Amino acid sequence: MFGVVPKSMWNKANPADENNMCTWAMRALLVQTDDRLILIDNGMGNKQDDKFFSHYYPHGEDSLAKNLARYGFTTNDITDVFLTHLHFDHCGGSIERVGNDLVPVFKNATYWSDAAHWKSALEPNEREKASFLKENILPIEACGKLKFVSAGYGEEWIPGISILRVHGHTESMMLPLISYGDTKVLFCADLLPSAAHISLPWVMAYDMQPLQTLGEKRRILKEAVDNNWILFFEHDPKIECCNLMNTERGIRMQTAFNIADHQLQNGTVNS
Ligand SMILES: [Zn+2]
Repeated sequence: MFGVVPKSMWNKANPADENNMCTWAMRALLVQTDDRLILIDNGMGNKQDDKFFSHYYPHGEDSLAKNLARYGFTTNDITDVFLTHLHFDHCGGSIERVGNDLVPVFKNATYWSDAAHWKSALEPNEREKASFLKENILPIEACGKLKFVSAGYGEEWIPGISILRVHGHTESMMLPLISYGDTKVLFCADLLPSAAHISLPWVMAYDMQPLQTLGEKRRILKEAVDNNWILFFEHDPKIECCNLMNTERGIRMQTAFNIADHQLQNGTVNS
């Protein structure tokens, strides 16, 4: 998860257990607009077998259905499922197994992906192959609910949500930038999986093009600090959100907070 960073350094940010494993979150984001209820990413789901899960030790009490219920919603209320990319820990919750069938969890939702990314997920290279599971991807197309986001870099997908595309982690990963009160929230997906990854050389070994990720981080973090964006972390085990500041050592986290505690002005954002 930390690429070339030595364990003596990353172990302070996210201490490993006796099996050298770290705890990570799979944190989705729920965005409510006037006419949509949008879920951004949805974790790894529960349809894989015990052998698969034994590699990842999923633990904790959270589930999407349970957290949606906290806000008075069910999976049937979701109008749009926005998938930043199709790695299993981001899209696996889209589809569930019912008997022998693989069916959408969000029965009334349109599923959004990127056309170039979709193609690369169906024809993966050997290094990335283990992250793209056919059972997560093909049933989305088969149910007729798949659409591709056509907005270009920085353009609006729907009013209030624009899309930044990055290519270092995987081909055409989409980061939604959500207008929120008088600021913007960037859903960082795997460009910045945790707050520790704000430091430029902290790039995951999973990334297909680490130097490209580094350049994308440099550019997007500058834009974020200049415009006082809030960063939302999908994988950080503790830090849900932060804002940024310039320091002598580069851009760093200023304050960590939960999105629900942030001063709401227009609309609602829940994780
Ligand atoms: Zn990923």
